[in-house]
Amino acid sequence: MVIVGAGPVGMRMAQELWRRQPATPVVIYGDEASEPYNRVRLSSFLVGDISWQELTRDSALPAGANIETRYGCRVIAIDRARRCVRDATGFDQPYSRLVLASGSRAYVPDIPGIRLPGVYTFRDVSDAQRLFARRVRSRRTIVLGGGLLGLEAARAMQRFNTGVCVVEHYSRLMMRQLDATAASGLRAHVEAMGIEVVLDDGARRVLGDVAVSGIQLRSDRILECDTVVVATGISPNTELALAAGLPIGRGIKVNDRMQTADPDIYAVGECAEHRDRVYGIVAPGLEQATVAAHVIAGGSTRYAGSTLATRLKVLDLPVFSIGPATEEEKPDFARTWTWRDGNAYRKLVTYRGRLVGAITVGECADLSRLQEAAMRQRRIWPWQLLRFARSGALWAEEDAGSVLAWPAAAAVCNCTGVTRGDLGRAMADGCATVEALAARTGASTVCGSCRPLLAQLAGAAGPLAPERGWKTLLGSGGFALVAAVLLLLFAVPYAASVQVPWQWDVLWRDSFWKQVSGFTVLGLSVVLSALSLRKRIRRFTLGAFPVWRVMHAVLGALTLVALAVHSGGRLGSNLNFTLMACFLGVVVLGATAGGIVALEHRLGSGAARLRRSWLWAHILMTWPIPVLLAFHVLKTYYF
Ligand SMILES: Cc1cc2nc3c(=O)[nH]c(=O)nc-3n(C[C@H](O)[C@H](O)[C@H](O)COP(=O)(O)OP(=O)(O)OC[C@H]3O[C@@H](n4cnc5c(N)ncnc54)[C@H](O)[C@@H]3O)c2cc1C
Repeated sequence: MVIVGAGPVGMRMAQELWRRQPATPVVIYGDEASEPYNRVRLSSFLVGDISWQELTRDSALPAGANIETRYGCRVIAIDRARRCVRDATGFDQPYSRLVLASGSRAYVPDIPGIRLPGVYTFRDVSDAQRLFARRVRSRRTIVLGGGLLGLEAARAMQRFNTGVCVVEHYSRLMMRQLDATAASGLRAHVEAMGIEVVLDDGARRVLGDVAVSGIQLRSDRILECDTVVVATGISPNTELALAAGLPIGRGIKVNDRMQTADPDIYAVGECAEHRDRVYGIVAPGLEQATVAAHVIAGGSTRYAGSTLATRLKVLDLPVFSIGPATEEEKPDFARTWTWRDGNAYRKLVTYRGRLVGAITVGECADLSRLQEAAMRQRRIWPWQLLRFARSGALWAEEDAGSVLAWPAAAAVCNCTGVTRGDLGRAMADGCATVEALAARTGASTVCGSCRPLLAQLAGAAGPLAPERGWKTLLGSGGFALVAAVLLLLFAVPYAASVQVPWQWDVLWRDSFWKQVSGFTVLGLSVVLSALSLRKRIRRFTLGAFPVWRVMHAVLGALTLVALAVHSGGRLGSNLNFTLMACFLGVVVLGATAGGIVALEHRLGSGAARLRRSWLWAHILMTWPIPVLLAFHVLKTYYF
């Protein structure tokens, strides 16, 4: 397998291929001179928020993997007939499958003067190094483009003695991601930071003889400057594919299997065009890499497109947008809900009762959960919207904050798609730190915004928070356990004499009372099984799961009481004995699992594995019960 491009998506591709087919040799080409790095965090690197080690940390390939790296070496041609690629050294590298992950370069508009010294792009680490050197000397920098990249570049270029101005062609900043309210809040913040903003205007020409001296705008206004940073979009690297005769649109055209017109050549990441869309952010590329690796390994996964989510970094103002959240983008008949508090602003877009888009400006405690809900288009209930109108939050504080309360299917890292369940499994296998979780699952290795959630999970941010309702869970589990053991060991005695005022043994002797207690057990058992559906059915999101779990435990304990009344603590024989043994087994296993859940915060990382084993045993044990119960009822009435 040969991969062209060692950007984030190419590296992910190599890792995925290796994970699925460790014996197959992989060769990865990257034309940048440096070792691979996390391009998404390049602006944080330029600002000085992170070091080179931090920038490259998560791009390392697994030790011992069968992957040959050829960095600093460009692929210059693809020979489809001979099934090989030619690299810059003249070597012909054969391939069985070729993956193009050549990404894109900065789009530079064709305007007079754009090639003058002093005009920069911001795409790779060499650009960052040049800008780093330049910002020391620059007195006035103009950034062309008021999108995510332009704003991050503007912040990075700003120093106490460097004035910065952002020029945006559209009427608002981050036009594609933010609505007018959010964009004007962002603009106010950017201006308060000392960055000038010019909207609804663009560069007509770059002025200067030997170097940049200014910009002439479409409005004929002249802005003086000594440096220009072009952040006006991207242009996918499609030349290789084009020369090889593959169909090209804006990017390299691919089908849902990420294959180009040549079934042995795949394209993923920013160079690929899927269903007429080229994605300019990293998460879709990572998803595409996973799909391509799966298909190459013989799988049948298909890529159906991605929901775009953006977070603005380095501007000291959390700005987030996901899905079609602007007036222009939102689907027809979609409904919007907004909340404001001072400078904080939140907006939700729902379509047929499901969350499809959101914008937040300012701190938002449940941001990751909101992102997950929009990604999975989760149902939003009317009471959640009421809460949103009141407080700007969709979830009660205790549910939103703790990732521990998330369902297993919820994505914790939206860049890589790693779920709460994946992380739970990694923890069960002994990953007890954020680093170990990141290395094992890939979570937090892209934009890094989910690191606090990982810290919460690993307990790195303090001891593991106890599960909601853990005391009730522990109490009912303990009660059920003791009651089950007592039932196993002792039978309730019959009333000693007919003169005892209350003949308690009529409860399991008298046919009427026996039916009352019997149907109580049956009814409670049905309710108990129904309660567990809250966890099993992904789309069923009514109420918080921990509350349902506590109800399950309490009702389980009550069922045992009803069973004691029904049987008088006698195990019976044959069918009755089997049924009773199953019931008591279910109770013992469930009560123990509940106890482990309740004490997980004390038991440490191994508890998750323990809890899962007991839980599965509990579930398996319930399977024969419906059949046994049916026979029990049948034989009771028939005979
Ligand atoms: C400053 C900055 C900030 C960003 N912030 C975010 C963000 O917050 N969130 C987000 O989601 N995205 C962000 N992005 C975008 C994100 O970095 C890209 O979406 C992502 O890097 C795309 O990955 P890729 O591997 O497809 O392409 P690239 O990262 O472009 O990697 C492609 C690699 O292939 C190499 N290559 C190309 N042709 C050849 C060849 N012929 N032979 C060998 N090698 C070749 C290129 O040199 C490059 O190294 C940001 C980008 C920048 C520049």
